[in-house]
Amino acid sequence: MISMISDFISLIYPDICYACDCSLYKHEKCLCTFCSYHLPKTNYHLDNGNRLSKLFWGRVNIQSASAFYHFDKGSKVQNLIHHLKYKGHQEIGKVLGLIYGKELSKSEYYKDIDLVIPVPLHPKKLKKRGYNQSDYFAMGLAKGLNASWLPNGLSRTADSQSQTLRSRFDRWQNMNSAFGMRNPQKFDGLNVLIVDDVITTGSTLEACAEVLLLIPNVKVSVAAIACA
Ligand SMILES: [Zn+2]
Repeated sequence: MISMISDFISLIYPDICYACDCSLYKHEKCLCTFCSYHLPKTNYHLDNGNRLSKLFWGRVNIQSASAFYHFDKGSKVQNLIHHLKYKGHQEIGKVLGLIYGKELSKSEYYKDIDLVIPVPLHPKKLKKRGYNQSDYFAMGLAKGLNASWLPNGLSRTADSQSQTLRSRFDRWQNMNSAFGMRNPQKFDGLNVLIVDDVITTGSTLEACAEVLLLIPNVKVSVAAIACA
């Protein structure tokens, strides 16, 4: 009976693919089969000299950098992230994280990750949105990588809002004081993956990595759902 009711409800309000907005079949979750295959994957986790890693070279000493998808304005990937960030569909983060985490676990650069932590949102933004979108991606990744997950590993301190018009250097200066750690001893000797939703200039992840790398014996890699 319950199954019949849920079938009836999904007939009126079908679950949609958050990338292309088409109706989903029962076995599909968040993404339709077509999008699962055809969204533009970077496969950066297979090549440590990828374009994204090079973005960080000479800036911060990270092990590896990768993103699941390429990000373009007006694309299906942007639609997917919009649903995750602004429409309250946190489950997208978990679903994508789990798929990508399983792929990363087969990469020699990511298979030994111990801990996954999200880039923290500014407290004001967190209050407004109610959740940190990167946290759900981190949770899924940790599951796929068979690693631990620590939602509040890093904290956000200074105000760092509205930075879209600033230069990269200005942004870095602004970001540099924006992050802190609650329990540095927790990270001792760990191989940590810091995750964000979208990487554009890399300055946010750079600032987070800088803070973690103050602890001896810590290795840092970064990953995101997409990179511009
Ligand atoms: Zn789709």
